[in-house]
Amino acid sequence: MLCLPRRLPVSFRPYPGEALSSWMARSARVYSLDLAGLLTSYRGFDSATIETLDASPDFQTLQLLSTLTGVDVPEIARCTLAGNHPAWLPRWTTWQHADWEITERRTLLPHRLSVNVCPTCLREDDREGREQYLRLRWFCAAMTLCDRHRVPLVARCSMATCLLSLRSRTSGTAHRLYCANCSTFLDGSGNGLSTPVSEAAARQQLNRFEQRLCAAISVGHLHPAPSDCLHRLRSEYFTIVVEDLIWALTRLTPSGNHRAIHFLETLQYPVPPGFRLPFDTPHWLSRTTVHVRRALLATVAMMLRPDQEAVVLRTDTFCSDAFERLQSLLTPSCRAAQDT
Ligand SMILES: [Zn+2]
Ligand SMILES: [Zn+2]
Repeated sequence: MLCLPRRLPVSFRPYPGEALSSWMARSARVYSLDLAGLLTSYRGFDSATIETLDASPDFQTLQLLSTLTGVDVPEIARCTLAGNHPAWLPRWTTWQHADWEITERRTLLPHRLSVNVCPTCLREDDREGREQYLRLRWFCAAMTLCDRHRVPLVARCSMATCLLSLRSRTSGTAHRLYCANCSTFLDGSGNGLSTPVSEAAARQQLNRFEQRLCAAISVGHLHPAPSDCLHRLRSEYFTIVVEDLIWALTRLTPSGNHRAIHFLETLQYPVPPGFRLPFDTPHWLSRTTVHVRRALLATVAMMLRPDQEAVVLRTDTFCSDAFERLQSLLTPSCRAAQDT
């Protein structure tokens, strides 16, 4: 174990919206350490604390980090979801994916955050002379496209092989984030070419929907005593409707081989393979891959805005009424009809 001083002689200020783990990792780099190396040098930090550092660290952890950096506890807390986006915890936070324990036949729900990044934001950091950093907003389960660039968030390194974790680190020389597993940089995916017009339109629709959903999730916390009560009610109602639809779309159909989303996926954002196992969680958005989340949110956007001017997000031609179709999919007596 390294013997570090009680207080770091040099520590940075966080960037706007920066996640605590990212900020601490940048400070650690000055001492040629990674996040775990820095924090485990101090008593009280185990791997579980590090994997959830950006969610809701306890007061003792915040105090330790305050002593370490010389920054006030409230400012450190602002770099966590609990301090900055409390409404996202726990159901609208991207936790590590639910998994199926085959031998015990039960669902596993790891208590670790799942990391998503926007490669374009990272490239922008690099271009503008900042160190690349993780944004807290990338932990929102209602967001699958970057709200600044409308590009898909990614949860794997640029080799598309390793799932990202808070252990992904800042490089020692270029100030770029890299995959702790295979050492490739995280800003390398995407080729920078322009997006086809049809895809750009789909992204625009989905992005608009995600923005509205994010605002609706946060509204109760941003405006505890709103003058516009109607707006607040509408936002809460909107969130409930979305949650109910996501729940219904993730139910297994009576055949047991598909979930309802498999019959209602949009052409632009289909469900990737492997979402058919019989395991379950009450809130799939926070417990599945960014690709499945995107498919779910796109379908809900399509269902709630069928009359939009340009029908961009759409399912196959069999679906004249998506709500009716969803109901029939989940009703055992209609199984024969759906199978034909
Ligand atoms: Zn971005
Ligand atoms: Zn990797």
